[in-house]
Amino acid sequence: MTNVESLLPFNPGHCFIDGCWQPSDSTDSIVLHNPSNAQALCKIAAGNSVDIDNAVNAATAALNSEWGRFSALERGRVLARLGQLVTENIELLTTLETADVGKPLTQARADALALARYLEFYAGAADKIHGETLPYLDGYTVYTLRQPHGVTGHIIPWNYPMQIIGRSVGAALTMGNACVLKPAENACLTALLFAELADRAGLPKGALNVVPGLGDVAGAALAAHAGVQHLSFTGSVDVGAFIQTQAASNVVPVTLELGGKSPQLVFNDADLQEALPFLVNAGIQNAGQTCSASSRILVQRGVYEQVLELMADAYKNLKVGPADQDFAIGPLISAAQKARVESFIKMDTELTLVAQGTIVTDAPAEGYYIAPRLYACEDPQHALAQQEIFGPIQVVIPFDDEAHALAIANGTEFGLVASVWTQDGSRQMRLAKNLHAGQVFINNYGAGGGVELPFGGVGKSGHGREKGFEALYGFSTLKTVAARHG
Ligand code: NAP
Ligand code: MG
Repeated sequence: MTNVESLLPFNPGHCFIDGCWQPSDSTDSIVLHNPSNAQALCKIAAGNSVDIDNAVNAATAALNSEWGRFSALERGRVLARLGQLVTENIELLTTLETADVGKPLTQARADALALARYLEFYAGAADKIHGETLPYLDGYTVYTLRQPHGVTGHIIPWNYPMQIIGRSVGAALTMGNACVLKPAENACLTALLFAELADRAGLPKGALNVVPGLGDVAGAALAAHAGVQHLSFTGSVDVGAFIQTQAASNVVPVTLELGGKSPQLVFNDADLQEALPFLVNAGIQNAGQTCSASSRILVQRGVYEQVLELMADAYKNLKVGPADQDFAIGPLISAAQKARVESFIKMDTELTLVAQGTIVTDAPAEGYYIAPRLYACEDPQHALAQQEIFGPIQVVIPFDDEAHALAIANGTEFGLVASVWTQDGSRQMRLAKNLHAGQVFINNYGAGGGVELPFGGVGKSGHGREKGFEALYGFSTLKTVAARHG
């Protein structure tokens, strides 16, 4: 049994509410498992509606006490200290994420570094976001104030806990909101450590509260709570739609980030050697459990066979194994997620399996491993080319010309990210404008994850933007002040 409990500087069975670790109102607990070997890691609290109520009350009180009185400069400074503490604890965060989420060490460390970078970015932005003065009638002075919503609820998934905490909680705190965070039931440890670090950084009590627990108990209570003034959700379309109905009942704004079926468009004139690592990595990073995973590769017929060959060679070298051995691909998060991906593989009958990666022989049989699969797919309407699988599976679809490529690219219900590989500048501009996506990349994919770059979807990929300054607008409300002075 991997013993993570001895590494934790807090009691993992508690919730972090009002600046201290508290036992949950519920007597239930949840056992966390290591996805690499299915062994139990530790027990966490199964928070309930009473815990959520306590957390929302603590957040509300924080807005009316020390945290509410913090200047923008002070908010920036505390976030900078928190970023520093995250940096000092990179190895512990990496170890916990590798054990809890099954992330290969390099990818877990990259997430911890990204969390620190979000805090650094938002720390610097805190005192640089401001309202405007507006020209108006003679005798008036009009200006706008950017103010926090109040209490913000954050319901996050298991695939990138640290990065999503950085981009949502980081931005919300920057604008002076008080946060209640409900991490995923199977990926809690770094969220809990983040609360401990925030406390050590000097974040006033109640500004951040973390209640672990089940989605349909703690998550649902947070989504429905009348004391929450903004909801931020990342996860599945069905739960996102439910969260939006809850937000509607309380008439509060909601940000939804719901994944996608993001395409890369490869034209005959593309530099294939440049493109190759992006084509593959964007599909298999985090075992494909990435909202912005590129699960569809669209290739012009002139280079279709060549791209299939290049990608196949790369796939044959892909190794899958225990996260602490740091292969390119680790296990999936859970037995349920593995079963979901296998159910898609069962639907592959009309596709051609071009290549597969390899699960290393000493990977524990109990772990949730899936070998990555690369398919040639003539039918863009096939289930594997339409639905979000959230596993290491890519389909390669041929196209004839630009119009055909655009129709296929825009032909799903999603629209999160897209990329275009071509040397033709006019084509780059046309496609950047016409692709249905919140982010378009030209001759790259993901731009290294840039925390500065606004991110979010269209269609069933959701709405609202996180990352960059845009997140700060989303996590604040604008007040117009008109003074008549003659
Ligand atoms: P999910 O159910 O949407 O979970 C996301 C978050 O919502 C978790 O914290 C979850 O809590 C919580 N939640 C679940 N039911 C809730 C409810 N009724 N009210 C409030 N909160 C609730 O996603 P999943 O079941 O983990 O994964 C299913 C599929 O969703 C995946 O296969 C993938 O296709 C997609 N997904 C997308 C993303 C993304 O980044 N866009 C992330 C994860 C999953 P618990 O986990 O504790 O139940
Ligand atoms: Mg779920």
